Amino acid sequence: MRKRLVALLLALVLVLSMTTGAFALESGPRPIVIQGAMDIEVMDMVAALKDAKEITYGSWTFWSGTLEDYPVIVSRTEVGITNAAAATAIAIEKFNPCLIINQGTSGGHDPALHRYDIVLGKLSVNYGKFRSEHGDLGQGIQPEKWIPDNVSLRVDGEKVYFDGFKGDQEVLEIAERLAPSYEHGKVVVGVIGTADEWNRELDRIQWVHETYDSSVEEMETASSAQVAEAYKIPFLGIRILSNSEWHGEEFDPKSASYCQEYTLEVVKAYINEKLQTSPAEQALPGIYFNDEAISLSTRPIIDKGVIYLPVRELIIKLGGTISWDAENNVAKATINDQEILLSSQDADLFQNGVIYIAADKLGQITDYKVAILGLNQVRIFQ
Ligand code: SAH
Repeated sequence: MRKRLVALLLALVLVLSMTTGAFALESGPRPIVIQGAMDIEVMDMVAALKDAKEITYGSWTFWSGTLEDYPVIVSRTEVGITNAAAATAIAIEKFNPCLIINQGTSGGHDPALHRYDIVLGKLSVNYGKFRSEHGDLGQGIQPEKWIPDNVSLRVDGEKVYFDGFKGDQEVLEIAERLAPSYEHGKVVVGVIGTADEWNRELDRIQWVHETYDSSVEEMETASSAQVAEAYKIPFLGIRILSNSEWHGEEFDPKSASYCQEYTLEVVKAYINEKLQTSPAEQALPGIYFNDEAISLSTRPIIDKGVIYLPVRELIIKLGGTISWDAENNVAKATINDQEILLSSQDADLFQNGVIYIAADKLGQITDYKVAILGLNQVRIFQ
């Protein structure tokens, strides 16, 4: 009877982990997703992919192929914040990317910038969310008095408010370094403003520029960045000025090609510098115990920004012991003079017969301190 129960529980864990997508993991390196809203903003990149395959979910089409022999997915998000958020969530759930770049056209907010200049987003901000004070009927509408409101995400169970989303420092640095190679204008680091708006009133443009320090306006970046933040996936916005009301420069579709060209250079450099040197190893974090590297024969798994460690081997490597108590259906571990019981509920991931726990959980169930540095390192201290 008990054996049956164990089998049933295991089956349940298996089915659960499949439906939560843990089994959808590809074993190869995690791809880079590059987004653009409109055809003119993606088609050059699709053409640059080797062996591109097209797939559509709902309204949103993705092309997956390789660039420099590394998996890259071009995503057509469609226009506006809802489309961008949906396309980003789908990309993350379906493809488990290690980096997301949102690129494309935009309108100038900073008068110092001209058409074809490129803005690398150190920050992207949703400038379309407001509240207002009460106004009586007949008092009129005064948008300049509306109060900017920030956006929120639930992070580890807590509501967190954001007044912007930071661009990933590593990619930003690579993108900045390539600036001298760009021939059509200047490349600056700035703030990308996102809203479902196309503004042409210079007073409004100036107000947004002064209030949010925005360099440009467009309709997708901060929305994609918000979803990427929820999954803790590195993100960068790269936006070209396709138009600037300040200088009477009208939308030029050529700018969309220039931006893709630049983005492809950034992605290639990122692949060659950060990923291509043994992609299999690069994708795995180093595990350190009291500052000494420990090697696990079962590879850790990274899924959606979470590092999972094989629990049995980890406990042994940390100097503990672990045995299975079949009678009570729990694993009994002794570690650091502490006895821990692990039931099937404690398993965060179950794959190929191995039980994994999320790296941060180790700090919760033991007295060890655990520092997780991005997806690169897990440092455990006694
Ligand atoms: N015919 C298209 C036009 C979309 S234009 C349609 O109706 O769907 C808006 C797109 O261009 C958005 O994806 C936005 O990111 C970008 N864009 C370029 N310049 C912009 C500007 N000045 N303001 C807002 N979005 C701009």
